[in-house]
Amino acid sequence: MSSTVTSSAGALADTAPAGGPAAVVAPSIWAVIKAHSYGHGTVQGMQGFAAADGLAMLDLAEALECRESGWTKPILLLEGCFEPADLELADRYRLTSVVHSREQLDMLARARPAQPLDVLVKLNSGMNRLGFAADAYRGAHARALELRAQGILGSVGRMTHFANADAAQGVAAQLRVFQQVAGDLPGPVSLCNSAATLRYPEISLARGGAESWVRPGICLYGASPFADADAASFGLKPAMSLRSAIIATQDLRPGDTVGYGSLFTAEAPMRIGVVACGYADGYPRHAGTGTPIVVAGTRTRLLGRVSMDMLAVDLTPVPQAGIGAPVSLWGADGPSVDEVAQAAGTIGYELLCALATRVPVRTTP
Ligand SMILES: *Cc1c(COP(=O)(O)O)cnc(C)c1O
Repeated sequence: MSSTVTSSAGALADTAPAGGPAAVVAPSIWAVIKAHSYGHGTVQGMQGFAAADGLAMLDLAEALECRESGWTKPILLLEGCFEPADLELADRYRLTSVVHSREQLDMLARARPAQPLDVLVKLNSGMNRLGFAADAYRGAHARALELRAQGILGSVGRMTHFANADAAQGVAAQLRVFQQVAGDLPGPVSLCNSAATLRYPEISLARGGAESWVRPGICLYGASPFADADAASFGLKPAMSLRSAIIATQDLRPGDTVGYGSLFTAEAPMRIGVVACGYADGYPRHAGTGTPIVVAGTRTRLLGRVSMDMLAVDLTPVPQAGIGAPVSLWGADGPSVDEVAQAAGTIGYELLCALATRVPVRTTP
C-alpha cells in the first residue's frame, strides 16, 4: 500500500483592474510553477492557475509541457536561456526569458529569432544570486534596448528578487537599490514573491500605466512563506493533502522501543499504528517524535524515526483506530505542511517539492 496525495487548484486573487488608465491598478500575476508546481504536477498547476496572467518556471521541458497542454498566455523562464538551442525553443514556444548575465545578452545578440523575444532584465539588488550588479544594470538594460531596436527583443522589462521579504529585515534596502538603479527606466516591472506580495501589497500596484507583475509561488499552494505566520492567517487553503492509512498496529509494554535506532521508548502500555508513508514518499526523515499527524480525524503524534516506507504513530488518543484507519500527514484534514516542516527543521516549500513520484496523485477540481 502506498500513500496518496490529492491536490486541488490554489485560489487566485481577483485581479481585475479597476478605474481608468491613470488609476492605480492591481498587478498582473506570474503564477510560479517551478519544480513541477512545487510538487503538485506541472499541468495540475497550469490548470489550477488558469486565471493567472502568466506562468513562471525554470525548466524548458516544463514550459514546453504547458504550451503543448494548451497554455497560450505568457510563460517566464526565471533563469533565462543557457544555450542557443534554448533560445530557439524560447522563440518557437513564445517564452519570456529573464536576462541576468552578460553572457545571456551576448547570446541574444547572436540570435535570429523569428519573432522578437520578450525579456526581463534582472537586477541584483542585494540577494547576490542572479542579476546584473547595480553599476552594470543600466548598461545591460541599454544593450537590451539596442537589441530591441534590431528586432531581436520585444518587450524589455525590469526585475529583481528579495532575499528577506519574509524576515525582519524586509525589502526596504533592496527596493531602494531597485528604485535608484532602475526606477526611471521604461518597461514592465516584477518585484514580489509570495512573502513580498502578502506583506507589501502596495509596492506592486501599477502606477502611471506601467505594467507590474507579482511572482507568487508558495502562497498559491496554500502554504506560508513566513516562519511566524501560518497560511490560515492569510485565508490560504492547502492545495495538497498527503494521506495514507494504518497498515499495522502494535501493543507496547513499558520499556518497548519503536523503529530504527529505538529512538522512542514506551513508558506505559500503549498502542501504536504503523502508517504506509516514509521518506521515500517525501515525508521528512528529520521529523521526530511529537511531529503532529492526524489519524481518523484526531490529532496525535509521530513516534521514533521515520523509515523509508513507514512511520509510527501514537494511537493513545484514537483507541478505536485499527488497520485501514485513514491518516493525514499534511493538508486539508491534517496538520499544515508548515507545521510538519517546522518539526523537521525545514520549510513547507521543501516538503511540497520533495513529494516523491511514487506517490499516486488524485486531482480534485
Ligand atoms: C521561486 C521564486 C519565486 C516564488 O517564490 P515564493 O516564495 O514561492 O513565492 C518568485 N521569483 C523567483 C525569481 C523565484 O525563484
